[in-house]
Amino acid sequence: MPASPPSGGSDKPAAPHLKPGDEAYAGTPGTGEDLCEVCGGTGIRQDGSPCPNCEGTGRVTRGIGGA
Ligand SMILES: [Zn+2]
Repeated sequence: MPASPPSGGSDKPAAPHLKPGDEAYAGTPGTGEDLCEVCGGTGIRQDGSPCPNCEGTGRVTRGIGGA
């Protein structure tokens, strides 16, 4: 049998998802969670719509340290 993964498995955790404001996937070494600078961490923009940068979470993953 060919090793073709079944599609639509519901027993797997959510796939890593990179938001527009993320510099790396959450949990990546050398990165950390930071407040979204677009919405200031509220997840909502000034006009009341969900922030697209952090997708309404108010947080983005950014690289820390280093130069
Ligand atoms: Zn935001």
